[in-house]
Amino acid sequence: MSQDIFANRVLKGKGVSSGIAIGKVHLLERGRIQVSKHAVKEEQVDREIQRFQQAIKRAIDELNRIKQSIPDDEVRQHAFIIDAHVLMLQDQFFHNEVVETIKRQRINAEWALDMVVSKYLSSFEKVEDPYLRERGQDLNHIHQRLLRIMVGKQASSTVDRRIRGKAVIVTHDLSPADTIQLDLHRTSGFVTDVGGRTSHTSIVARALEIPAVVGLANASGLVKNGDTIIIDGDEGTVIINPSADVEKEYRSKQVRLSAQRREFLRLAKLRSETKDGFRIRVGANIELLAEMDIVERYGAEGVGLYRTEYIYLSRKTLPTEDDHYHIYRKLAENRAIKYTTIRTLDIGGDKFASKIEVPKEINPAMGLRAIRLCIKEVDIFKTQLRGILRASLFGPLRILIPMVSGLEEVRRAKALIKECMEELDAQKEGYNREIKVGIMIEVPATTMITDLLASEVDFFSIGTNDLIQYSLAIDRVNEYVSYLYEPLHPAVLRMIKRTVEDAHAHHIEVSICGEMAGEPLYVPILLGLDLDEFSMNAYAIPRVKKIIRGLGHSYCRELLHEVMSKDSAKDSEALVRREMSRLFPEDFA
Ligand code: PEP
Ligand code: MG
Repeated sequence: MSQDIFANRVLKGKGVSSGIAIGKVHLLERGRIQVSKHAVKEEQVDREIQRFQQAIKRAIDELNRIKQSIPDDEVRQHAFIIDAHVLMLQDQFFHNEVVETIKRQRINAEWALDMVVSKYLSSFEKVEDPYLRERGQDLNHIHQRLLRIMVGKQASSTVDRRIRGKAVIVTHDLSPADTIQLDLHRTSGFVTDVGGRTSHTSIVARALEIPAVVGLANASGLVKNGDTIIIDGDEGTVIINPSADVEKEYRSKQVRLSAQRREFLRLAKLRSETKDGFRIRVGANIELLAEMDIVERYGAEGVGLYRTEYIYLSRKTLPTEDDHYHIYRKLAENRAIKYTTIRTLDIGGDKFASKIEVPKEINPAMGLRAIRLCIKEVDIFKTQLRGILRASLFGPLRILIPMVSGLEEVRRAKALIKECMEELDAQKEGYNREIKVGIMIEVPATTMITDLLASEVDFFSIGTNDLIQYSLAIDRVNEYVSYLYEPLHPAVLRMIKRTVEDAHAHHIEVSICGEMAGEPLYVPILLGLDLDEFSMNAYAIPRVKKIIRGLGHSYCRELLHEVMSKDSAKDSEALVRREMSRLFPEDFA
């Protein structure tokens, strides 16, 4: 181990895929290709356009070749992310803009491409939504690939064979194609200077359960090939050239985590049932088809919440009915899970500025979003609904409408679903006529009319993230008021209780799909509330199942009763914590 001044250098980034990796660094150097501006003569303009068009064609060929050459089944499943790059390269709008810039300004193709990409990137940077911002990185990857082709440089991204055993890849950034080309069996972790939770590297790392830390600013400038590196994907920590003591500490943490993971995978397979035989369905919240592997492995019975926003944000144009249909059909056909709840578009405000005309809003969280936007932009909504309906022929899909605030909206949404069914009938397209339609209970007003709403729909799904945000008036992304986020606030508990009682009085099911559902501490309270399904991040399922299996339902009801007699969330939280430490000392130390 090198004992230089950089020994034990600790860097902090974002932990985006859990686990600890310890190994030798393999630095993937990807210097950015610099381009300069050249004026071209009138007669050379066509040649520059041709160079650009040929580069596009070669880039698409390259990506398709990479996709086809993936030897490993497991990795191949994630190749869909390469398709996103191919689609961007085929985008006519982007293509025309570069061609027009070459013609208008009479400049070389590289410079025209650089101008167009910079313009797009600056709009991506202004966007608040992390998904859309990450798509800016996709554009960067495409840009670099095209430039490499135009200036004739080769890319290399295979792990250095001289490194024995597995290597931790450190790089400025990894494109989806890079990630897929890597020998993942020899890759024990990822460290990148840029990226966030929703970057492709993070998604692939999570799907393959390889630890990853991203957003480290300049990690690739601080390490050299062969350095020893530790990455902690839970803490977001990276340690370069650790001392023997630090390495030993992390090795024992690694052993602990592997044992814990084995235990989680064992727990994942068990029934989610209390000691006295009360069954509760456990579902997963997902956003990508790629997450289906984890859903199965971590023991979900179904998908309680499929957030469809990514489908819109990962494209530059609106998804077509067929785009929707193909994605939902894959979900419907998955026989390892019993049901999939597809939530219709929950988006609005500035996230859509380039595709749909929406007014600038001061408070987008309370603005024209979700079902409000869908009722206004009927074509967008119906395109998605028809996609869901057609796919429903292939398996148990359910429709979930977000951000409902009153009966009128529900009736309008149902009327639009009916209209789509009639259109499909006219086209002789099949679908499931009995498809279940439910609504999110996440606007506080709806908890006061759950009796009325229950007679209109087939199920409720309580979104505590928004329900808490709106009822306690705390912006869910504002750290200054996060101390007010109290899932056991008496108002929140009363709203959930009333919702469940009304749902059951009308013989419909009620699920909970906010973050609260995946928090082991709240399991006894949610069991006491008699919900029918808990839906959560798949990785949270084994721990939640463990707690469910260690509790009695009648005990949970008694505990809930006691909690609901308290007048403050603090007292309730203290009581629940005390009880859980008593019952599960090793989990709630
Ligand atoms: C919620 O609001 O609790 C929820 C599950 O939906 P989202 O987090 O997507 O708003
Ligand atoms: Mg919500």
